[in-house]
Amino acid sequence: MIIDFHAHLDDRWFDQPLMSREQFIAAMDRCGVDAACVFTLMGFFEDSRRHNDLLAGRAAALPERLIPFITVDPKLGEASIDELRRCIALGVFRGIKLHPWLQAFAPSMLKKTIVRIAEIAAEKDLPILFHDGTPPYATTFQIGAVARWVPAAKIVLGHAGLADYTLAAAQLARDIPNLYACVCGPRPADIAHIVATAGAEKVLFGSDLGLSDWMILADRLDAVRYAGISDEQTRMVLGGNARRLLRLL
Ligand SMILES: [Zn+2]
Repeated sequence: MIIDFHAHLDDRWFDQPLMSREQFIAAMDRCGVDAACVFTLMGFFEDSRRHNDLLAGRAAALPERLIPFITVDPKLGEASIDELRRCIALGVFRGIKLHPWLQAFAPSMLKKTIVRIAEIAAEKDLPILFHDGTPPYATTFQIGAVARWVPAAKIVLGHAGLADYTLAAAQLARDIPNLYACVCGPRPADIAHIVATAGAEKVLFGSDLGLSDWMILADRLDAVRYAGISDEQTRMVLGGNARRLLRLL
């Protein structure tokens, strides 16, 4: 079973239209992907409540295959906690996605709110995937710090260091028990290093499908398949670990 742990199901990127749900599913089918964790894009810039509802609506048609994640704007403080609780109560979301770079906050600037969000996520057993790999707000070290603040929360590095921080991602995922690395971006040699350092059980597959078309999904699947890791490690990275984190077992 293949689960894409990092995808965006939105209808536009500012003034550019994105793929429809039908095209998104066709891309998954073409690449043999069974399910995808789906996030907003415009919800990082606009009213997150409206975008959480839009995303839940898009995913509702195929609940077995489209697994929606909540986003909130932590800059709003208590209001972001209210929105988180409202979404959790809907019962359809399986995780949380935060994007410090696009949402314009460093986790340490909003530590009280981020800790609160992570505590609630831990209580409800919802993983939190953070964008990482991008200064100034979302370096891999800054996201690793969040995992240290709330050891009970499952924190995912959304890009496993992306390009510049893959060595840090490997070490942090090795050293912090509740930190996971989603290899959405790293190249095959980096993926091999992350798996060897952190352990295959800490590594998830992600593609950013939706931000781009099916080719990004095919390319990122190939990056895992050509990393030279064992078949069992590949199975864990492509789906087994995601099933465990999402409690789909
Ligand atoms: Zn993304």
